[in-house]
Amino acid sequence: MASERPWHVPGRWYTSPHNWHENVRGGMVGLPRQVCVKDDTLREGEETPGVVFDLKDRVEIGVRLQDIGVAELEMPMASSLEESAEVTKEFKRAGIKCRKSYIYFRTPPYEASTWKDDIKRRIDLGLDHLTLSLSFSREDTWSDFGGEFSKEKVEAIIGETVQYAKNQGATVGFGWPNQTRTYLDTLKRFHKAAADAGVDRTQIYDSLGVGLPASIRHLVSQVKQAVGKTPVLIHVHNDFGMATANTLAGIEGGAEWCDLVVNGLGDRGGNASFEEVVSALEILYGVNTGIKLDRLYELSKFVAKKSGVKCQPHKAIVGQNSFMEESAGHHRSMHAAIVGGTPEAYVPYVPETVGRHYTKIFGTTTMYGGAIEIQLDDWGFQYSVQDIERVRRRALKEIRSSKKGYLSEPEFKKICAGALKRKAASKS
Ligand SMILES: [Zn+2]
Repeated sequence: MASERPWHVPGRWYTSPHNWHENVRGGMVGLPRQVCVKDDTLREGEETPGVVFDLKDRVEIGVRLQDIGVAELEMPMASSLEESAEVTKEFKRAGIKCRKSYIYFRTPPYEASTWKDDIKRRIDLGLDHLTLSLSFSREDTWSDFGGEFSKEKVEAIIGETVQYAKNQGATVGFGWPNQTRTYLDTLKRFHKAAADAGVDRTQIYDSLGVGLPASIRHLVSQVKQAVGKTPVLIHVHNDFGMATANTLAGIEGGAEWCDLVVNGLGDRGGNASFEEVVSALEILYGVNTGIKLDRLYELSKFVAKKSGVKCQPHKAIVGQNSFMEESAGHHRSMHAAIVGGTPEAYVPYVPETVGRHYTKIFGTTTMYGGAIEIQLDDWGFQYSVQDIERVRRRALKEIRSSKKGYLSEPEFKKICAGALKRKAASKS
């Protein structure tokens, strides 16, 4: 039975009851109970400028993605079919059994006879899923297919391509880039054409990150109405810093699948961040993703190492500072929460939820407001008002001359022990 207070899981998190208000939930017209994660780190992630994954990296990342629970892995783009075959073989050898998909772009001229061969050879690699992506010209999209390449022609190509790929034995997805620039009725027609041809999943791409959460939610809900029971996937980019919000909005609109990239890697501003979206789904929405949240941090660190792209320190979930507290007020509140046996009282969720720990540091903002006293009490020091002043003076001097701009707990303790030499209690 669903909890009456889903925003509060004792010992783990306390989020906002407003997230569960009927008016708020009522706006999430298609929110599913379960969302499947398709990981795109190996394809989109490698499009990050400067990132190169070799075969070993690809396999090692693939193993970790499988272990954390992704439903599907998008395989890296390869420069040749031989390379794709080699990667696929290595994935099998490494025991990666989760669904593997590959994207195939069918490009103009659509009359060319080579596309069937291209599709067949890709499916013959032994992949589970082929995503068909049609490429439309700027003129066709901007004129709403008002030229020679009419909507009827596009529908016929969609039907022909989907059916051919299905007949080769793979499950098939369908989409095209820049759908947030496609007129809504046209968008629905094309997705419906794919659904009518028996596509297994239809995919919505906001390739330039130009959608708003409200428009993405609307667009997905409209496509859902057009395609009936066919599952929908949402794939967005982060050009306005809204990839997480837009992915979640797409899911609120009814998308059962989402494309995510570890650490939000990707071309330009990147893609939707794996760790942010799955944490939000599980903790803020109560939606099951099948992802082991407590492995998120180790996955993030591994991908950062392999890609050579460090996360910004204040990045949500996986940034170095995400569970680090400096200010005196935060020290006090955190102390009260822990002593009171409700660690979730002063954090959105306890760091262990995502495989992390709380870290207290001592900077300029810790030096006033009672935090020093709390810490000295905790360590069992006896002290006077003058002692506090001495500790503060010495600590500030160290903080201001230190490169990192703060002191760790052991560093601060050493200063306290030095300043209170004659008064250190045995507990310290
Ligand atoms: Zn993309």
